[in-house]
Amino acid sequence: MRFTRRQFTAYMAASMTLAAIPNSLLASSQPFAGGRLYSFSDGVMNLPVETLFADAPVAARDQILAKTGVTDGRLRRPVNVNLLDLGERKILFDVGSGVNFLPTLGELPAALDAADVDISTITDVVFTHAHPDHIWGILDDFDDLLMPDAAYYISQAEWDFWDSDDAMSVMPAGRENFAAGAKSRFDKLRDQISLFKVGDEILPNIEVIDSAGHTPGHASLLLHDPAGSVLIAGDALTHSVISFEHPDWLNESDMDRDQGAVARKRLLDRLAADKVGLAATHLPAPGFGRVERNQSVWRYVAADS
Ligand SMILES: [Zn+2]
Repeated sequence: MRFTRRQFTAYMAASMTLAAIPNSLLASSQPFAGGRLYSFSDGVMNLPVETLFADAPVAARDQILAKTGVTDGRLRRPVNVNLLDLGERKILFDVGSGVNFLPTLGELPAALDAADVDISTITDVVFTHAHPDHIWGILDDFDDLLMPDAAYYISQAEWDFWDSDDAMSVMPAGRENFAAGAKSRFDKLRDQISLFKVGDEILPNIEVIDSAGHTPGHASLLLHDPAGSVLIAGDALTHSVISFEHPDWLNESDMDRDQGAVARKRLLDRLAADKVGLAATHLPAPGFGRVERNQSVWRYVAADS
């Protein structure tokens, strides 16, 4: 279900009760660093399983997928978008895909509305990477910035790759629009984007962690808090069982599949050892959890919500 802002306001006025808000528009949140860390849904992608983890042992892969509710050969992969609300400062991590990528996505603006978050009060937008489901949503229906006054941040490596002519030439067949779409969004952001590198503290207590592999400059963001830090992992960890228990299985959506596997294992080690919480775009909504390690096996534990 998708609403324009005006339709949604009318819908709310007509329904008048919170219980009437569609489940897909309800946000989850947890206290964090004196504010709240939210997870909003931009919708759900519906993907054929044969396009994922194609090199994995098929029987083992299908057994895991069946256990996680995939019975018709289609993986329903949520798109969670995180907002860190610190009062004066509201920091969005990725922006969903807007209305021009897949018909089942683009719900973020309605989800923010449903939670009474005025999108114009978002001060900062940090991108993990420039794939469509993470960056295309910066534009409204008129191709203008939805948040014209926000500050934007992306890694230098990610910017350099998608801003070059090489991006188009290395896109696999059927994904050419990924390159064109990233470039057209970059053109809108060129004057107001800050480029970061691994190790930078881009905003107070927000540190850039290397997780390149999914894309050439994919970055994760470590939100430091003495009461318990959280890693915004983007697409470094995409499946609640396979990414954790079989991080070596190459992921079809990683642009550098070997580097993607190395990044996954490095992150899993750190998340488990340092007891860092996890928020990831495509884990089952709302995508909050943690990693446990039992000898050589990692496991994802979803947060109670
Ligand atoms: Zn993604």
